[in-house]
Amino acid sequence: MAKIIDGKTISQQIKDELKEKVAALKAEGTEIALAVIQVGTDPASTVYVGNKKKACEYVGIRSESYELPEETTQEELLQLIDTLNHKDSVYGILVQLPLPEHIQEDMVIRAIAPEKDVDGFHPQSVGALSIGQKGFVSCTPAGIIQLLKRSGVEIEGKECVVIGRSNIVGKPMALLLLRENGTVTVTHSKTKDLRSVCKRADILVVAIGKPKMIDASYVKEGAVVIDVGVHRNENRKLCGDVDFESVEPIASAITPVPGGVGPMTIAMLMYNCVQAVEIRKG
Ligand code: NAP
Repeated sequence: MAKIIDGKTISQQIKDELKEKVAALKAEGTEIALAVIQVGTDPASTVYVGNKKKACEYVGIRSESYELPEETTQEELLQLIDTLNHKDSVYGILVQLPLPEHIQEDMVIRAIAPEKDVDGFHPQSVGALSIGQKGFVSCTPAGIIQLLKRSGVEIEGKECVVIGRSNIVGKPMALLLLRENGTVTVTHSKTKDLRSVCKRADILVVAIGKPKMIDASYVKEGAVVIDVGVHRNENRKLCGDVDFESVEPIASAITPVPGGVGPMTIAMLMYNCVQAVEIRKG
C-alpha cells in the first residue's frame, strides 16, 4: 500500500504560510496585486481563472481582472501588458493560456516584464532556472518539488525519470530535480523502450497527457510516483496519466488525481506572487 501524497493538505499549508507573509507585507505598506488576463470565454479557462482569483482572495492578494473578448487583437493584448508592466501596484501578470489562434503565445509571454512573470514562462525565467539562478519557476513543477519535500521524499542521489518534455512541465521538472541533486532522465514520445527506462526510477514523474497510460509494468517496486495528468474519463470522473489502481499497490508513495499535483499549481502561483516582492526589491 502506497502512502498517498495529499496535495490538498500540502497546498493548504502553503497558502496559510503565504497568508501570514502577505499580511506582514501589508502591515509594512506593500499590497500585492496580480493582473489576470483572459482572452475569450473558453469554459475550462474560466474555471482556472476563477480558482486563481479565489486563491488570491484567500491569501490576501488583490486580483485585477481583465476579461477581453475573443476578437481582441495581438496588438491590443500587447498594449495592455505594456501598461501593466509599468503599473507599480501590479506585482504579477498572468495571461491565461491557451490564447485564441490569431494570437502568438510566445510573443505574449515575451512581452511580460520578467520581474512580473509569475507563471515562470518567460525565456529569462527559464534561462535563470537552467543556470541555477534565482527567478520565477513554472508553478506545476515547483509544486511537485514541494510535494516531495513536504512528504519527506529525499531527492538527492535518486534516479528520477520524467515522462514528458513540455516547456511548462517536463523540462522545468527535470531542471528542478537536477537542482535537488537527483540523477535525471527525461523521456518523450521518441524514447525507445520507455518501460525499462521508467522501471529504473526511484521517483517517476508522469506528464504525458495520456489517460491512465502508466500502469504497474512501468514502475519499480517502492518507487514514488507523481501523476501530473488531468483528464475526464467516459463517466466525467477525473483521472490522471497513471493507472492508480494498478500502480498504487507497488509504489511507496503516489499522488492521486484529483487532489495531488493539481492544487499545488495554484498554491505555487501564490508563492510566485509573494516572491515578486523580493524580486522587485532585487
Ligand atoms: P504536452 O505538452 O502534451 O506534453 C506531453 C509530453 O509527453 C511530450 O513531451 C510528449 O513527447 C510526451 N509523450 C506523449 N506521448 C508519449 C508516449 N507515448 N511515450 C512517451 N512520451 C510521450 O503536455 P503537458 O502540458 O506537459 O501536460 C501533461 C499532462 O499534465 C496533461 O494531462 C495536462 O493536462 C497535465 N497538466 C496538469 C497540470 C496541473 O496543474 N495538474 C498542469 C499542466 C499540465 P514529445 O515531446 O516527443 O511529443
